[in-house]
Amino acid sequence: MTTPRPAHIGMDIGGTKTEALVLDADGQVEARISFPTEQGDEGVLGTAERAIAALCERSGRTLVDVSSVGIGIPGQVDHELGTVRHAYNIGIDELDLAARLQERIGLPVSLDNDVTAAAIGAAHLMELPGTTAYLNLGTGIAAGFVIDDQPLRGAHGITGEIGHLAIDPLGRPCPCGQTGCLETVASGSALKSFWHPDGDGRVLLADAAAGDPAAVEALSLLVTGAAAGIRLLVMTFDPHTLVIGGGLRMLGAPLLDGIRDTLDGWADASPFLASLGMSDRIRILPDGSPAAAVGAALSYRS
Ligand SMILES: [Zn+2]
Repeated sequence: MTTPRPAHIGMDIGGTKTEALVLDADGQVEARISFPTEQGDEGVLGTAERAIAALCERSGRTLVDVSSVGIGIPGQVDHELGTVRHAYNIGIDELDLAARLQERIGLPVSLDNDVTAAAIGAAHLMELPGTTAYLNLGTGIAAGFVIDDQPLRGAHGITGEIGHLAIDPLGRPCPCGQTGCLETVASGSALKSFWHPDGDGRVLLADAAAGDPAAVEALSLLVTGAAAGIRLLVMTFDPHTLVIGGGLRMLGAPLLDGIRDTLDGWADASPFLASLGMSDRIRILPDGSPAAAVGAALSYRS
């Protein structure tokens, strides 16, 4: 009987669900599962343990055949210390997640912010060279970066938190304490807070198509805000590729064509912007891509 080559487990612990997978020694997904996230410190630790046990069973491996576990999680993550703070949507104030999980399973555990993990995974799965900027359009709006295969993590784990750039003249209040944050116009939480408590994207599209003024405005703010985020990322990092991920991308053409049209409109008015080819750099993360879990599995490399 041959011993399998060591594999890496990666998981994306989200507000409602956790996606976890085994990446084999060649970087291919070997087994993949998804189930609800339990809230709070113990809930998250238990969720991670259950994910590891289920993946071992599914892939026919034991923990001996696994060389690392990587976790992508929302909030302020210190990759060096393995701590996560302010992950309020999963009930975590501050947790020494890497050390505490490592104690329980006896394997090295590394943490990354979920959007940074998604950027690592997208660059790997889409085989993107050079500089990749990943824009997550989901409950919030945030970015992650990979430069020549290396994720950019910054000094305090807040790299890419562009949702809290206070740049919108509407000046809406943001839970972070500022007003006019990008996230208050261009995010799923903005749709819920300022358009409709359900915030359902399909309903938004239907209502906007029917000419409902509130829906038209909400969609327009979302499109313009996302385009502003992309322009910011192009100016800051001059990425070779800009990947749009996150649940809102599933709104499809009305959002994605809207973003490209907005960028092209700005370029028409500015030879400088036109020379940047902003909309040509955009790629959309494929439907169902496990980018964040794959990126978490790969975070042992750096
Ligand atoms: Zn804010």
